[in-house]
Amino acid sequence: MVENSDVTPHGGARGANTPSNLRDLSHDELAAMLTELGAPAFRVKQVEGWLGRPEVTSFEAMTNLPKALREELAARYTLASVELAATRVSKDGSRKYLVRCADGVMVECVGLPSSGRLSVCVSTQAGCAMGCAFCATGRSGLTRSLSAREIADQVAVVRGDFGLRVSSVVFMGQGEPFANYDATLAALRILNAPGPETIGARHLTVSTCGVIPRIRQFSKEPEQFTLAISLHSAVQQTRNALMPATRKYPLTRLHEVLEEYAERTHRRPTYEFAPIDGVNDTNSEVEALVDFCVGTLCHVNLIHLNALEGSPLAPSPDAKVRSIRARLERAGIEATIREPRGQDIEAACGQLRQRLEGVGF
Ligand code: SAH
Ligand code: SF4
Repeated sequence: MVENSDVTPHGGARGANTPSNLRDLSHDELAAMLTELGAPAFRVKQVEGWLGRPEVTSFEAMTNLPKALREELAARYTLASVELAATRVSKDGSRKYLVRCADGVMVECVGLPSSGRLSVCVSTQAGCAMGCAFCATGRSGLTRSLSAREIADQVAVVRGDFGLRVSSVVFMGQGEPFANYDATLAALRILNAPGPETIGARHLTVSTCGVIPRIRQFSKEPEQFTLAISLHSAVQQTRNALMPATRKYPLTRLHEVLEEYAERTHRRPTYEFAPIDGVNDTNSEVEALVDFCVGTLCHVNLIHLNALEGSPLAPSPDAKVRSIRARLERAGIEATIREPRGQDIEAACGQLRQRLEGVGF
């Protein structure tokens, strides 16, 4: 067993980048550290089993590990996890959670049950630096990025509350996943790891505002994770106004990288498009959207805009949304109108946290 507490699990000096929270170790780091401590290989799975349960915050609770190993781990690592701070239940069955990280930072996640299946929406950052005009998260700026375990633990919190197996996860809560790429990928891999709770790669979806270099990197990952792009306008000027931080990733280059993505992966990215009255639902906007999509592998999700307090942006009337779908379908583009869910619990990105911070829960 390692005697010297200045020695890292890998045998080198403990550097600034060495996680002190056991939950922040990757699978390989954990395996190397346990080997170093003289533990047999099967302990890795046992420890990972405990780490997948956010309610387990003491090494003593890991009752299937020998006492000496538990003490060794406790001397080297903390085990802080996320905890549930508040829950709101919608009339439609969806539940929204406010989750507190060990340092007090709060993030949101949502559970959406439907006919025996449970989808979970997780946050990848506390806040977001992208500042999209229609988004509550964008209003508050970025607090910090989440660790892989903080992202994956949100799924465990929702699973625990519903007592159901999670069938799919969307990375569509607060934050820009591709501004926190490594932790996002590591979280996807934790969720996709073999085991009783495993979630298939195709049922794990990452949504990005369009960070081009990361879309390219994502297309080269070996797993078949699903990609969604928040498009919201195919007219550069409109998109610049709605999503100011995407200016450096212009639509022409976004289109190119999405074609590359489809060619390389043979997978169909989803384009998220929230029709906004008089802004991106005009004839010229809809024709630009058709031009952007036609001939490429994609699926357009027409989502309901959740209007923010004090914002001039309002959702398009239902008839207009239906006419956009009809126009896309006439052009041979797959499109779905997403029914809004959880409106009574402010399930849109960032809204719950903003409200709770204003009034105290
Ligand atoms: N940053 C990533 C993922 C988080 S946002 C992204 O932008 O894709 C998740 C989704 O919620 C995105 O499609 C985003 O455009 C959408 N969204 C944000 N605010 C919204 C609102 N007020 N109403 C409806 N959808 C919203
Ligand atoms: Fe950030 Fe996505 Fe909200 Fe834009 S829509 S501010 S990228 S979380």
